[in-house]
Amino acid sequence: MTTYIDGKKTARRIEDEVAAGVASLARRTGRVPALATVLVGGDPAGAVYVAHKRRAVRRAGMRDVHRSLPAHAGHDDIAAVLDALAADPEVSGILLQLPLPEGLDPRPLIDRIPGAKDVDGLTTHSVGLLAGRAAEGLRPCTPRGVIELLDSEGVVLRGAHAVVVGASGLVGRPLAQLLLQRDATVTVAHRHTAGLAAVTRVADVLVVAAGVPGLIGPEHVKPGATVVDVGITRTVAGITSDVRTAELDGIAARVTPVPGGVGPMTIAMLLANTLEAARQQGHRQMSH
Ligand code: NAD
Repeated sequence: MTTYIDGKKTARRIEDEVAAGVASLARRTGRVPALATVLVGGDPAGAVYVAHKRRAVRRAGMRDVHRSLPAHAGHDDIAAVLDALAADPEVSGILLQLPLPEGLDPRPLIDRIPGAKDVDGLTTHSVGLLAGRAAEGLRPCTPRGVIELLDSEGVVLRGAHAVVVGASGLVGRPLAQLLLQRDATVTVAHRHTAGLAAVTRVADVLVVAAGVPGLIGPEHVKPGATVVDVGITRTVAGITSDVRTAELDGIAARVTPVPGGVGPMTIAMLLANTLEAARQQGHRQMSH
């Protein structure tokens, strides 16, 4: 029997907890957490993601701040918007929607976001805190969502062999760090990995974030493994994912569906990070 992990249910529980936390913070301090989303250009996928995030922010009772810039906006225009949000004490978190239009280097722009407002966990500062195993610092939403989902299913990470397929700064690398912090034995595979199936077949926990539709099938999976499918690729035929989930029936112990698996968790973690940022900023203000 293969269990389908319900990401929507766990995301809803976390969103409810965040909403309760937001209400309690507002009652105690009069401050309402605010997430600022920054969208550059008219990429339809980016616009859809930002719309989802903004709806979730409002659902949780937070303030939704949005800045939209045209596709021809330059580095300095975006930097000015980010700096204004960084300086605004009413803004708890800042999210710069990626990818940026071609020709813009995202790194120096991401790094204008102060660590305390880095709800995506992507600044060099936050990446360093994670790699340095610091207790503080905000963690990237999708990797954090994957760990929360595994925890909610009672999947044991300590001593488990976790294989992460994909080594991006957004998903694969930070996830590998989080798994390592949870005492898993971690292997990271990527586009240059030779003999992928032999590498993934040792996994007790297999997380796939390559963005290659149908990459992983039964030949890649150890019987009884937990398989988390992060990949989402939009095609004219609809949404496809990295794992041929139906083919794992009776082989994997658990799989996450797409949609309804990791996707909703990413948004729930964004809300959780925004609340955490607001709480921390409140503490800092009080201690000054
Ligand atoms: P990316 O393109 O930045 O990185 C892809 C990684 O996969 C790279 O490290 C690359 O080496 C590796 N890879 C590519 N082809 C491979 C192959 N044939 N075998 C093994 N490894 C291979 O992508 P990303 O930003 O990390 O996103 C990965 C996927 O996850 C995408 O489909 C993206 O849409 C999805 N995603 C989903 C969510 C969510 O909320 N569910 C969030 C972020 C990303």
